[in-house]
Amino acid sequence: MRKFYVLSIVVNTPLITEFEYRWNVEDGNKIIPKIGQFALVPFGRRKMLGLIVKIKNKSEFDEGRLKNVIDIRDHFTEVSNDWISFCNFAANYYHRSLGEVALSCLPRNLKILQRKTFEKIKEKINSSIEYQTKNNDFLPPKLNDEQDHAVNTILKNNGFCTYLLFGITGSGKTEVYLSVAEKIFFLRINTKLPQILFLVPEINLTPQFENNIKQRFPKLLVVTLNSKLSEKERLNNWILAHEGKASIILGTRLAAFTSLPNLELIVIDEEHEPSYKQQDGLRYSARDLCIWRAKQLKIPIILGSASPSIETWLNAISGKYKLLRLKKRSIISAKVPKIKLVDTKKNVTENGLSKVLIDNLRIRIENGEQSLLFLNRRGYAPILHCNSCGSINKCKNCSTYMVYHKIGKKLQCHLCGFNLPIPRSCSGCGEIDLKQIGKGTQKIEESLKKEFPDARIIRIDADSTKLKGSSEKAFNEFHKGNFDVLIGTQMIVKGHDFKKLSLVGVVNPDLSLFSNDYRAEERLFSQLIQVSGRAGRFKSKNHHSNDESVVIVQTHYPTHHLYQSLLTYDYEGFANSIINERRFAKLPPFIFQAVLKAEAKELVLVMDFLKKAKELNKCEDIIVNEPVPAMIRKIGGKERAQILVESYSRKKLQFFLKTWIPNIKNIKTNLKWNVEVDPYEI
Ligand code: ADP
Ligand code: ZN
Repeated sequence: MRKFYVLSIVVNTPLITEFEYRWNVEDGNKIIPKIGQFALVPFGRRKMLGLIVKIKNKSEFDEGRLKNVIDIRDHFTEVSNDWISFCNFAANYYHRSLGEVALSCLPRNLKILQRKTFEKIKEKINSSIEYQTKNNDFLPPKLNDEQDHAVNTILKNNGFCTYLLFGITGSGKTEVYLSVAEKIFFLRINTKLPQILFLVPEINLTPQFENNIKQRFPKLLVVTLNSKLSEKERLNNWILAHEGKASIILGTRLAAFTSLPNLELIVIDEEHEPSYKQQDGLRYSARDLCIWRAKQLKIPIILGSASPSIETWLNAISGKYKLLRLKKRSIISAKVPKIKLVDTKKNVTENGLSKVLIDNLRIRIENGEQSLLFLNRRGYAPILHCNSCGSINKCKNCSTYMVYHKIGKKLQCHLCGFNLPIPRSCSGCGEIDLKQIGKGTQKIEESLKKEFPDARIIRIDADSTKLKGSSEKAFNEFHKGNFDVLIGTQMIVKGHDFKKLSLVGVVNPDLSLFSNDYRAEERLFSQLIQVSGRAGRFKSKNHHSNDESVVIVQTHYPTHHLYQSLLTYDYEGFANSIINERRFAKLPPFIFQAVLKAEAKELVLVMDFLKKAKELNKCEDIIVNEPVPAMIRKIGGKERAQILVESYSRKKLQFFLKTWIPNIKNIKTNLKWNVEVDPYEI
C-alpha cells in the first residue's frame, strides 16, 4: 500500500517550473490524485491554487522535505489533457509559464470553492435545466441561398477548418451561426451533449445576440462569461461549462480559455475587433488561440465579419481559410444605405455640423425617423488652447493633453484621470480668450439641441454610461423609438439591429487617416462599415417615407482611397490596397513582430535597460530595432519606451524569443517590462 504520491504542480507565477508536493494517503486520506485536478498548496507564505500536471512515485529531491498538498479539489472533474496542452501552447507562444496561463484565466473563486458550495451549484444545474425546457414556440426564418450555401458547406466538412463568413451588415450572419449550431445540437447523434463557444467583442453591446440564442435554443443551457459578471456568477458559469452541462458558452475574449469537454464548434463574431486582443497582463489574441484550439480538437471555427481584419482576409484569399460570402441583406425590403461624402472644404461646418447633415437630420426628425451621429473619439476630444500664445494644457503625469469637460467644469486626463478646474486664463501668457480645439460629443449634443430644440436627443459614450446598466437602458429607449437622434462614439457602431434608423452622420473621421498607428485606417474603415450598417434595417417600407437610408460622411479628404472604397462598400478594393501598402512597407501580416516594453520614472533608465537588452543576442534573420520612446511616452508619471523585434519567419522569431527573454530576466533591474508577441498597438 502506497503511503504518498509526489505531485508536480504549476501555480500562477512567472517562474517557468513545476513544483513538487507530497500527497499523503496513509492517514485515511482516500483521494487518489489525477492529472488535471486542482489542488490547494502552500506557496511561500500563501496558499495558492495549483494544477496537477504530473504524478510520480519518487522525487529527485528529499521526499521528507517536500511540502504537503493542503487539499485536492476532487469534487469537480479534472480538466482534460487537451485543455492542458492548449494552455501549454499559449504559454509557449506568448512566452509565459504554464501556471500563469492555466490559473490566471480561471474564475478567482475556484480557489475557495468548497465541496458544499459545489453541491449547491450542481443542484441549481438540474433545476435550471428543467426550467429551460418550458417554452418552444419560435420559428426561425427560412435561409436565403447564400446563407444556405454557407451552412451546408460548414456542415459537409468534418474536422478542422477555419471559415471566414464575410457578409455585409444585415446579411444574416447570426442566422448562419445559429443554423449550424442547430444542426450540431439536433442532428449529430452523440452520446455527449455538444458544446459551442460563441465569442463576441463586448457583451453589453450585443444584448440581442444573447436573446437570439436563448430564443432559438430554449431547451439548452446558455451561459455567459465576461469580466462584467460577479465572481459568483463567473464561477457558476465556468463550472457549468467545465462539467459539460452548458451547451452554449457566450463570452468575450477571456472565455477562449474555458475548459469545455465537448467542444464541437467555435464562432467568433466580428473577428476583426481589437477587443479580442488582450493588451495587458497575459497579452494574447483570443481569435488566434481559438483557431489553434479548433485545430487541436479537429472542429470547425467560423470567423464572421463585414470588414475582416487584413490578416484574416489575406488568409482567406490565399486559401488557408475557406471564404463564404453573404452579399445581400437578408430582409428583402432592407436596402444597404447610400453613402454620401460631404467635402468640408467646400461645405463649411458650424459647431462640427455641415448644412447638408443638418438638413438631412431635419427631414428625418420631421418624418419621425431615427438618426445616429457617430463621432470618432480618437484625437477628437475637445482641448483648450490659448489663441494668443498657442499653449495647451498638458497632463502633469502623461504626455497627453487634458480634455475639456463641460459637465463638472474640469480639464481631465483620459489616461490617468488627473484633473484640474478649468483655468480662467492661459497659464503661459495670461490671455483670457481660451478656445476649444475639436468638438466632443457633449459639444455636438449642445449644438444639435440648439438647432432642434424639440427633438429628442440621447448621447451614449463612456462618460454618459458610467453607471452599470445605463448603456443598456439608453439603447433600449432608443430601440423603442423614444428618441430621434442618438449621438455617440465607438460604443454605438456595433451590433445593434435598429429597426427605425434611416440616417447615419459621421462627423469627423479624418484624424484616423494621419495616425502613427498603421492599423488606424483599417480600423476606421471597419467602423464606418459597421456604423453605416446600423441604418436601413426596416422590416417593412411603412416605417420610412424616404426612398432610401443615407450615410453622410463629413470629410476634408473625399478623394482619399478609404472614402472612395466606402462609397461603393468596396471592402475588397480597400483591403487589397492596404495589403499592397503593407507588403511594400514590410508591415504585418508580411512580417512577424514582438515588442519589448519597459517603463520607469526616468527615460534614461528605460533606455539603458533597453540598450542592454538589445545587446544580448544576435540572431540571423531577426531584426532587433533601436529602443524608442513609446507613442504615448508618459503615462501616470512613468516614462515608457520599447524595442520592436521583427522577422519574416514566425518560427525564427519564436526561436529567438526563447533565449532572448530568459536573458533579459538576468539583467539586474527593478523597472517593469514585458514582451508582447504579435502586438496590436506599438
Ligand atoms: P448581420 O449579423 O450579418 O449584420 P443579422 O444576423 O443581424 O445580420 O441579421 C439582420 C436581420 O435579418 C435580423 O433581424 C435577422 O433576424 C434577419 N434575418 C436573417 N436571416 C434572415 C432570413 N433568411 N430571412 C429573413 N430575415 C432574416
Ligand atoms: Zn495623465
